Amino acid sequence: MSLAIAKCISLIGLNGSVIDVEADIGIGLPGYTLLGLPDAALSESRDRVRAALINSGEIWPNKRVTISLSPAWLPKRGSGFDLAIAAALLAASEVEPIDRLSNVIILGELTLEGKIKGILGILPALMAAKKAGFDKAIVPVVNAQEARLVNDLEIIAMSTLKECAIWIRTGESPTHSIAESYVENKDSEELDLSEVGGQLQARKALEISAIGGHHLLMIGPPGAGKTMLAARLPSILPALDREGALEVTALHSLAGKVSNDSPLITQPPFVAPHHSATRAALVGGGGVNIKPGACSLAHNGVLFLDEAPEMSSGVLDALRQPLESGSITISRSGASANFPSRFTLVLAANPCPCGRFTGTGRNCSCTPQSVRRYLNKLSGPLLDRIDLQVEVGATGRAGLSQIGESSQVVRARVMDARKIAATRFSSYYWKSNSLIPAKYLRNEFAPESAGLLFLNRALDRELITARAFHRIIRVSWSIADMHQHLIPTLLDIEEATSLHERSFV
Ligand SMILES: [Zn+2]
Repeated sequence: MSLAIAKCISLIGLNGSVIDVEADIGIGLPGYTLLGLPDAALSESRDRVRAALINSGEIWPNKRVTISLSPAWLPKRGSGFDLAIAAALLAASEVEPIDRLSNVIILGELTLEGKIKGILGILPALMAAKKAGFDKAIVPVVNAQEARLVNDLEIIAMSTLKECAIWIRTGESPTHSIAESYVENKDSEELDLSEVGGQLQARKALEISAIGGHHLLMIGPPGAGKTMLAARLPSILPALDREGALEVTALHSLAGKVSNDSPLITQPPFVAPHHSATRAALVGGGGVNIKPGACSLAHNGVLFLDEAPEMSSGVLDALRQPLESGSITISRSGASANFPSRFTLVLAANPCPCGRFTGTGRNCSCTPQSVRRYLNKLSGPLLDRIDLQVEVGATGRAGLSQIGESSQVVRARVMDARKIAATRFSSYYWKSNSLIPAKYLRNEFAPESAGLLFLNRALDRELITARAFHRIIRVSWSIADMHQHLIPTLLDIEEATSLHERSFV
């Protein structure tokens, strides 16, 4: 036989397409042609595949070799095609036809020695394979745990090309001991809210944010505990359901951030890029392989930007698309990828550029202009989406000795409150309080009349803006759910107002 076809998956973002890898060994001058829009890494596969075959004791056909990847128009990237190319070549070199390759997806990169290396994005690739009707896949051993997350897909884990050659000829799968289980995310390492002393208002803001999905801004001097607080927000969010967990794991898989031992990410992620992060690091990008950025890695979880005013305006501006649409589209050289990115944004800022403006402001050396300029970096479209703002003061000695409620206790309350909201929104297209459209806030979702009157008065006296009016009502719904009030009361409205911006509008 001189022609064989193996199946592989090409990933663009989270979207995978089945690729036919055809190998033809023909008569003619010895040579190697690779057809079908390969990128540079893929074009180099010839040398890797040849060395791997020879070092595995196989013979490189001294004939005219043509490899064709189809559909031809689809861009194909990376080195994950190596194993499929080698398999197709092996099958094509056999005297008797072998049809073992027709119903299996083959993924893996080869070393020159003939070992099979792990690849990024195994989970999304195999999800696509399953969707396309495949029920069997050959994957690198290191990716096997992650591959097993896909239901009803037979996984054959291999570590060398030699094992693959034996399987092609005899159908015999290698045996690798791979722990069957996936370990649930260990609770012991989880951060707990009880470790934060004092900070009652900030703790409450975190809880309200967790209930209604409200974005949050914390202002306070360095060392006041803003990062500690933010890092504990995921611990009071409900664990991800299986669908959400797979989605998050698939995104992390593309970025190579999945643990081989316990791949499934079941807790809401917490992602905290440094303030010097580039736009690409935040929203995603990269060269040939489009990778998700911090915004997408924080999908279904929390994106924390410490010292947010230090970030460049262009980078902060890039947050607009995910905040508006819950997803990010990235286009690169003929391909475009869409990544989900619905996260709770937590911003932290110092009260002024020097960070020492507390209490009377005696230690601060900043001019009023520079303070305004500093905080104004956050103004406009970004701040429009922040429902909650709290000041986080330095914790005094009394505060440090106060032990707050544990995350478990708060999380139970958050889940009860979310249940109430879910029932209320069952016939609407949004599911959380932070997403109630403005036009509903004066009728179907208005607070009790005393509360509405309070806000209307504040609006008339120009104490709050129209935008703030909406945001306060949304937050008041989360407070009402927390207290199990049917609709927001005047007290809920007052509490929501106290968690609103004061330093700047
Ligand atoms: Zn200062």
